[in-house]
Amino acid sequence: MPNMRMDKNPMPSQAPEVRITNVDEVTLGYTPEMAIDEAKRCLGCKHKPCMQGCPVNIHIPDFVARVAEGDFEGAYEIISLTSSLPAICGRVCPQETQCEERCVRGIKGEPVAIGRLERFVADYMREKGEAKLAAPERNGHKVAIVGAGPAGLTAAGDLAKLGYQVTVFEALHTPGGVLMYGIPEFRLPKSIVQHEIQKLRDLGVEIVTDYVVGRSGTIDELVDDGYEAIFVGSGAGLPNFMNMPGEELKGVYSANEFLTRFNLMKAYREDSDTPIQHPTKTIVVGGGNVAMDAARCAKRLGSEVHIVYRRSLEELPARKEEVEHAMEEGIIFDLLNNPVAVHSDENGSVKAVECIQMELGEPDDSGRRRPIAKEGSNFMMDADCMIMAIGTSPNPLIRHTTEGLETNRKGCLIVDDNEMTTRDGVFAGGDAVTGAATVISAMGAGKKAAAAMDQYIQKKVRTA
Ligand code: FAD
Ligand code: SF4
Ligand code: SF4
Repeated sequence: MPNMRMDKNPMPSQAPEVRITNVDEVTLGYTPEMAIDEAKRCLGCKHKPCMQGCPVNIHIPDFVARVAEGDFEGAYEIISLTSSLPAICGRVCPQETQCEERCVRGIKGEPVAIGRLERFVADYMREKGEAKLAAPERNGHKVAIVGAGPAGLTAAGDLAKLGYQVTVFEALHTPGGVLMYGIPEFRLPKSIVQHEIQKLRDLGVEIVTDYVVGRSGTIDELVDDGYEAIFVGSGAGLPNFMNMPGEELKGVYSANEFLTRFNLMKAYREDSDTPIQHPTKTIVVGGGNVAMDAARCAKRLGSEVHIVYRRSLEELPARKEEVEHAMEEGIIFDLLNNPVAVHSDENGSVKAVECIQMELGEPDDSGRRRPIAKEGSNFMMDADCMIMAIGTSPNPLIRHTTEGLETNRKGCLIVDDNEMTTRDGVFAGGDAVTGAATVISAMGAGKKAAAAMDQYIQKKVRTA
């Protein structure tokens, strides 16, 4: 008999007043008993609506049924058929708009906690010491991957399993992309990301770090070096600014820079070589997940933090859970406001941010009500730090240094149905193609591209 309780088993978490004093993971994960109890809420629907909401089609009813039986290894095997990063997706996927949105238990009550169960299974196997996958026999062909984010790493893993000699070229000194430099430790522990990357190395994937494609070498040089197909998963890491007066002042950061200093360079630690300001009052501009992450990091540096967003709570694009966590941690939401200028003190540092009040008009192209400035409503907010989290775009470096790569007006690489770009043999996926999106959509693109690259090379072999 299924468990017909209406609500999900709550997630054990650190108390807000404790967690703002550390960078440890906020949510602590289910115990085996909690996981089994939650899994019993699943009705095992024959038409599997939840699966249709998962971009990589995890066999959700089957893995959840194994959890309900206490067969966690069996559950892990099922998840691993389609997903290579379950400990990560179980933590950061926007489940509420994907698998869980389609769950029938959500019609009257809360959906089955699919993400929490996926995380539980992956954590259980990692802690138990899952068996190492042996490096497969090589098929004699070599491929290159540009960028070690979720798109590139997924493509690398799938191609290595097919026997390819895979080399990943990564610009930063550590692989992982946004998983390492963007999403904070308290949401996604870095040891988990590195564990997943070690599994790829065990499969024989070579990862070359500090290698910027377009500067250290070009796509053409990779082709000349004998790489038979190339996947570009270089993300969308170029920050957008508002071009308002004072954005160049000391104390104004892009969210990417601030988060990189905090996460990758561990600037919150006293022994870190990377300087970071310890602000007293921070204004974060934006309302997405990136804004929530930046705000919560600034809070952990001891700052009072305000989120300034031009629409209302209803339109906030960040995940509901992240907004709730930010509110619990004492972050102040100054909604229906927009900055117009940053003012300086005598040293050229931020002293105040001038804002204007907004009201909502008719819906715009995005379907959300258009924010309109209220004339004459300008006001000052004291602050010594401002973080801009209003979106990012793909960096144009690769496009500018590669013949034949076309992009759309937003600078995103154009690909066909097989993820091949306008340059023969060069594939692409993830944020470099879609603009800033999600981990699971980047993984889905990496998977699709890996299959297409395999077909492309095998076809060449057959026709040679
Ligand atoms: P990335 O993760 O950006 O990886 C691209 C990699 O390519 C990077 O390592 C970069 O250094 C490297 N690179 C770039 N140019 C070059 C070059 N020329 N040569 C070599 N290497 C290069 N998504 C969610 O699903 N849930 C969340 O909770 C979530 N939170 C987020 C929080 C933050 C702060 C940010 C910034 C994003 C968040 N996202 C979230 C979005 C998600 O992380 C991205 O959609 C995803 O990481 C995209 O994967 P990717 O592999 O395409 O690119
Ligand atoms: Fe849901 Fe994401 Fe897991 Fe798919 S990968 S089942 S969307 S949490
Ligand atoms: Fe289980 Fe919900 Fe999927 Fe039905 S829709 S099989 S209840 S997870």
